[in-house]
Amino acid sequence: MTMTANVDAAGIHISTLVLAEHEGGCIKSSSISSIEAANSLGENNSISMLLAGSGSSLQEAATHAASCHPSVSQVLVADSDKLKYPLAEAWAKLVEMVQNAGVYSHILAASGSFGKNILPRAAALLDVSPITDVIAISGSHQFVRPIYAGNALSTVRYTGEPPCMLSIRSTSFPVPSETRSSAAPISQVDLSTFGGGTLNKARFVKLTSQDSERPDLGNARIVVTGGRALKSAENFKMLEKLAEKLGAAVGATRAAVDAGFVPNELQIGQTGKIVAPDLYMAFGVSGAIQHLAGIRDSKVIVAVNKDPDAPIFQVADYGLVGDLFEIIPELQEKLPEK
Ligand code: FAD
Repeated sequence: MTMTANVDAAGIHISTLVLAEHEGGCIKSSSISSIEAANSLGENNSISMLLAGSGSSLQEAATHAASCHPSVSQVLVADSDKLKYPLAEAWAKLVEMVQNAGVYSHILAASGSFGKNILPRAAALLDVSPITDVIAISGSHQFVRPIYAGNALSTVRYTGEPPCMLSIRSTSFPVPSETRSSAAPISQVDLSTFGGGTLNKARFVKLTSQDSERPDLGNARIVVTGGRALKSAENFKMLEKLAEKLGAAVGATRAAVDAGFVPNELQIGQTGKIVAPDLYMAFGVSGAIQHLAGIRDSKVIVAVNKDPDAPIFQVADYGLVGDLFEIIPELQEKLPEK
């Protein structure tokens, strides 16, 4: 069978819009993973990246977007004060407008707080049902996603009207090392009719995030996690010191977050972040299924827990039964300086 441009094996036209998140003039690696995922939708897929914001950092991010992945066909830039902050209301309107102009067969976003915030609202405006947390793609309309906190995998087929909207688990689509040799074209989205309606119903108040030299939790090669057993924010500093020595990111269980030891952005698990580091170290973490849902793709799991029957030991490659208040200082002392 001969295939024409942008048509998959079943004769379906495919062109994808990837909603891209950027920070400090760079496209986040989770968004680059979404392009990698878009690549699996079929051959001849024309992939456009949509960026929004305002000012010079948006233009820097657009330049990065144009070469961040070999498969980017074009970069669409929406530059407006109304899009300065990534509010779901404004973004959803933008997606609706860009979709109506470009009629994409697929719209993808990474399954982080940015994508989880925008995608359902944009899908409602476009009157389609999104498929969330996609971890594998086996054709333009068939996807695999975890269910029951990752204890089972479900294969789903999208039979609705286009666009097929997907949120992508970036840990399942690693960013390739190659970039685009020549930059993809960048064009500005015409925003002359953008505004009004729901846009005025939400207002950006403030962003609170940890200013840290440590690697980003979602991409770190090593993650050091603490549970409720750490007992206080003060004791979590012990873990932070260990992370510094290892060049690791710090994570936490929901119990530790709920107890106020660390901010919410450090939570790993079903309702937190999904991580897939080379080394995952858990200190005083029981191993509840909701936590395990976020660490399953880790290559090596090390657990320290004083209870030999703790469920975390069932998934750990290396387990140490002992008191974390003795083991962490000992590790800190014995590990060589970087
Ligand atoms: P605990 O269960 O209290 O375990 C503490 C562990 O530390 C125990 O195993 C204990 O033996 C050990 N310990 C105690 N003292 C020491 C010591 N001195 N040295 C060594 N070990 C010690 N949880 C998440 O983490 N992420 C999620 O995304 C998440 N989402 C959820 C979603 C839903 C809908 C629900 C219902 C729950 C969710 N949870 C989530 C909560 C989850 O069920 C567990 O309650 C939580 O993971 C437990 O955290 P923990 O292991 O820190 O605490």
